[in-house]
Amino acid sequence: MTLHVPTLVLTLAIGFGLLALQLWMAGCGALGRSELRRLSLTGLSFCAGFALFGLRPWLPAWMVLLGGNWLLMAGLAGLAAAMWRHLLNRELPLWHHGLLVAAALAVPAVLDVSTPVRVGAMSIAMAMLLLPATFTAMRLGWRAELSFRAVALLLFLASLLLWLRAGLALWWMRAPPTEAETLPDWSRALFMLAFLAVLAAGCVFVLAHFERMASQMRKLASVDGLTGAMNHSTTVSLLAHAMERGRREGQPVGFVMLDLDHFKRVNDRHGHAVGDQVLKAVAACARARLRGSDVLGRLGGEEFGLVLPATGEAGARHLAEQVRLAVEGLELHGDGGQPLRVTLSAGVAEAARSDTPETLMHLADKALYQAKQKGRNRVVVADDWLRNSTLQSVVG
Ligand code: GH3
Ligand code: MG
Ligand code: MG
Repeated sequence: MTLHVPTLVLTLAIGFGLLALQLWMAGCGALGRSELRRLSLTGLSFCAGFALFGLRPWLPAWMVLLGGNWLLMAGLAGLAAAMWRHLLNRELPLWHHGLLVAAALAVPAVLDVSTPVRVGAMSIAMAMLLLPATFTAMRLGWRAELSFRAVALLLFLASLLLWLRAGLALWWMRAPPTEAETLPDWSRALFMLAFLAVLAAGCVFVLAHFERMASQMRKLASVDGLTGAMNHSTTVSLLAHAMERGRREGQPVGFVMLDLDHFKRVNDRHGHAVGDQVLKAVAACARARLRGSDVLGRLGGEEFGLVLPATGEAGARHLAEQVRLAVEGLELHGDGGQPLRVTLSAGVAEAARSDTPETLMHLADKALYQAKQKGRNRVVVADDWLRNSTLQSVVG
């Protein structure tokens, strides 16, 4: 079977052209759009490179080799830049630009040498340019999105094929001069396959990008932007989940409701911006005292909830007391640098088997109300009397 090179070249040119279009259109409606748009230029560079190779019968050979190789090299550098931004959130380092300049200078230098030397040199230059992207993708791609694993493997395959082509070119150099002048099918096949793998990696990269966006959206939908605590609805769902699990495993579940004392005064005296910083500091202070399985939620303005799996009344009270003391000890500052102290009150409740998340939260809220009434800056645990009166008020 012989390769029909013009068809393959045309396929790659069209494939990269469509990829550029897809990246551009995806980038127009996506978060972090500049990344996809920049990558679409890379697709365009590959497309133009292969289009130029396709025009070989009609253009001078030097023009095709020079322009085609430069465009493909620019595409590979663009791909490496996209991988670095996606995985390391960094631009390519200076040495990579040096690598690109060296590879670009190598193209005119090998225009007049024998075909095997040129093929070997170009393969090595391209494999070198692909190396930072492949290495970074193989090292960090497994911790990124699931679809990024395919990107990593495809880049690895592309690199492997280019190195193989370089290795075979070395062996081909020893062939008699007459044989060495015509480009063998294996060389073309390896080149085309390597760029097919690059094309596929580009397509899957779009999926990885959208996977990242979806997880960012999920996070934005469940986390409070100011404090990083879970928002109200997520906290209630996580509490329901913890209670269900507690019932199944015979483990207690504790819930604590925290509310800053006289927070309105903080805002009135120091302004809303300082109030926001106080909320952040309190959330960080509470979070630092939680276990991995505990949840910190922001239930409303200056009201937080702690979901505590496998924690009974005593444990929940102890934790609430620790958080209360820590917040009391926070050294905060007002707008003009003046010291600012805040305190909080807490209501603690342990889930009974028949509780729903709403009744448990209501109970903790009642206990919190008592803490406020008793003078604030204290922790109150919901006792049986409070439970019964709460139940009656809920039923009534
Ligand atoms: P108490 O001790 O009875 O809880 O008094 P309080 O002043 O804390 O209670 P109140 O519920 O009357 O006021 C809560 C204040 O929290 C009102 C509002 O200005 C403030 N607040 C709510 N959300 C935010 C926010 O996101 N940022 C800031 N800075 N303040 C907020
Ligand atoms: Mg308050
Ligand atoms: Mg409040």
